[in-house]
Amino acid sequence: MDQEIEHRWCKFCMTKTKQELVFLPNMATYKRRRKYKCTVCGKTSWLQGRRPSAESVY
Ligand SMILES: [Zn+2]
Repeated sequence: MDQEIEHRWCKFCMTKTKQELVFLPNMATYKRRRKYKCTVCGKTSWLQGRRPSAESVY
């Protein structure tokens, strides 16, 4: 399967790195947080997903 990769800021590398999406919650009602794993330093961190363009998402 395809691995989801996003370019996100890594606070450990202090730069933008390729980060693997390792956990995506099924219920994203409270703060859409996803777990990313940096492919450079291997550290995992919880980051909020990008702000949706519209608030009215059903
Ligand atoms: Zn990193």
